[in-house]
Amino acid sequence: MAALTPWIVGNWKMNGLSGDLDEALAIAQGVAVGAHARVAICAPATLVHRLAQALHATRVEVGGEDCRAEESGAFTGDVSAEMLADAGAKLVILGHSERRSGYGENDALVAAKVEAALRAGLNPIVCVGETLEERDGGRAVEVVTGQVRGSLPASLAGETFAVAYEPVWAIGTGRTAGTGDIAEMHAAIRGVLTDKFGEAGARVPILYGGSVKPGNAAEILATAEVGGALVGGASLKAADFLPIIEAAPGA
Ligand code: PEP
Repeated sequence: MAALTPWIVGNWKMNGLSGDLDEALAIAQGVAVGAHARVAICAPATLVHRLAQALHATRVEVGGEDCRAEESGAFTGDVSAEMLADAGAKLVILGHSERRSGYGENDALVAAKVEAALRAGLNPIVCVGETLEERDGGRAVEVVTGQVRGSLPASLAGETFAVAYEPVWAIGTGRTAGTGDIAEMHAAIRGVLTDKFGEAGARVPILYGGSVKPGNAAEILATAEVGGALVGGASLKAADFLPIIEAAPGA
């Protein structure tokens, strides 16, 4: 079976002003025409349109970081999947642990947001991951596979999407999971995906996220069942993000 194209996706979180568009351009200019990966920057809603315009002729796609499940309505401050698509987004991160913990987002809500993304033509990247307490309690695989089952609606069958395994304790902390733990978890997630989606589930990219840096990207990306990376802090600067993109194994 041919190797999957890895996805290397930046998550700018609540970072980025007009002045940072140049950094995105530097990233795009540094991505080789023949790069193996699908590359994207998921940015704050305020930047999506300008980034999509600035990057439209490049290898770098633009995504949102969250969306509301409803298409429109009286939801002050929220952004719909349709609005992100209208602004030029092609993907959207859903169920990030900073949303699950900060806004009480549960699997059912994440699944509803996935439906919204599909309705708007966006490729969802669905995040899952255990806390340190859950890992130390020996429940990491149970928690994460439960999140995968609950957050991925059946309507994803036949659609383009990714799952991102992001151990909560590894996000923004400088700590990364060991490759043995990553391989174990990605295999467990793969099991759920093939259970749910049959053969197509074997081709869904499972990204790893959590303090991916130029110095550890090659080892992580070469780990069994790792189909790319979701990168927070190290996606903000071309000097850090480009070596991660280059570390993606070729097809
Ligand atoms: C993230 O926010 O998705 C993430 C993985 O962050 P960091 O790379 O900074 O740990």
